[in-house]
Amino acid sequence: MTNINIPFLGGRESLHRRVNILKSKYPEASELLDFYWDIYRLQEEQKEHIRKKGKDWKDSKDWFIELLDFCIQRGSPVIKERAEELRHEDWSELVHRMERFLIEKEENLLDRFFFLSFLAPFYELKREILDIDPYNWLRNHCPVCGFRPSLSYLADTEDVEGGRFLVCPLCDSHWLYNRAMCVSCGNVEDESIDYYYDQSNSAVQLQVCKRCGYYIKLVDLRIDGLAIPRMDDVATLTLDLWAEERGFKRFEKNLFGL
Ligand SMILES: [Zn+2]
Ligand SMILES: [Zn+2]
Repeated sequence: MTNINIPFLGGRESLHRRVNILKSKYPEASELLDFYWDIYRLQEEQKEHIRKKGKDWKDSKDWFIELLDFCIQRGSPVIKERAEELRHEDWSELVHRMERFLIEKEENLLDRFFFLSFLAPFYELKREILDIDPYNWLRNHCPVCGFRPSLSYLADTEDVEGGRFLVCPLCDSHWLYNRAMCVSCGNVEDESIDYYYDQSNSAVQLQVCKRCGYYIKLVDLRIDGLAIPRMDDVATLTLDLWAEERGFKRFEKNLFGL
């Protein structure tokens, strides 16, 4: 298998540099980016821990509590309040709800944030072990965990020039998908697919399908080679607000429910 250079996993240093660049460019997303960066660091620590101990997520209540405590300290008022409530919930009930979430892929946005943040390290490791060929899957759900992609990007790789890759919000799988096709309904008619972007940054676009009303974000790494799709996605939340005002629906929301 040929590895693609996965932008989000470009290493801690480049990720941190990107967060700082984005914070100065998008001050409205500054707090969220800081929060995301801290969650990422906690998840990376946790991943190392799981790698060494080989723990199952159902036996990792301690990690869930650590995440909640962090959110109580550093989260927005809404996240903090929900974290405090979850801290008092029965663990076996939470496990049951997360099992259901993994099957149905649906949850209220607030709990979805906690569940995805908690489960991600386990599923990222699963993805690393499974080592699926990203070039031949070509479907609109993740080859590892079945989630719908929360964003996409365009990149030149050794195998594909200007290929469009979809990104899973849970396990961070990246896989190739038809560049001009609506990820929701499969529409490929040029005249009903539009691209929108802010004048100040043409590297982050919305691919909007007028046939089904869904859109997906598209980060063009050929325009901005330093972009890190998952971070740039969070930074450009005004694009999502713009789309929402016009009645377009995001195919799958990101970690923060945007
Ligand atoms: Zn996945
Ligand atoms: Zn469509």
